[in-house]
Amino acid sequence: MERRVKRGGRGHDDRPWPSERAIRSVDPMGNNVAACPSCGAKNRVPTSATGSPRCAKCQSSLPWLVEAGDADFGDAVDTNRLVLVDLWAPWCGPCRMVAPVLEKLSNEFTTTLKVVKVNVDESPHTAQRYQARSIPMLLFMRDGELVDTIVGAQPEHVLRARIEQFS
Ligand SMILES: [Zn+2]
Repeated sequence: MERRVKRGGRGHDDRPWPSERAIRSVDPMGNNVAACPSCGAKNRVPTSATGSPRCAKCQSSLPWLVEAGDADFGDAVDTNRLVLVDLWAPWCGPCRMVAPVLEKLSNEFTTTLKVVKVNVDESPHTAQRYQARSIPMLLFMRDGELVDTIVGAQPEHVLRARIEQFS
């Protein structure tokens, strides 16, 4: 069932993507809300959709960073973009170091990258499928296929080089 969070001062019929398949409610970390890099407007971004997220106000490309779990992981990685999956958990210190780097990179690669964050505590099937015994574990995926894996917190320039390599 779909649950929507009403946001202050905005109507509920201004969804930027008519083609969206699902919008998750905003999680406590606010990951499914993106601030437009051009005009600063807050936009909801769906976990999965055809096409690319654009600002409802100015039509600029939005960073695409979402939370997904076992139920919607397949839909979340079903995109023609490069997908960077962040397998993380709240208790994991290095994961907290990686999170802002991924946010920055998703702001930088607004048209080519999608970041999908998966809390392994809440998504045991996805964690098991990718053998996430040590986190943070980053998966690079193209067309649903795993193309590379990075275990452990890596510096920004390493991740950026990998994104450029696979974009
Ligand atoms: Zn905008």
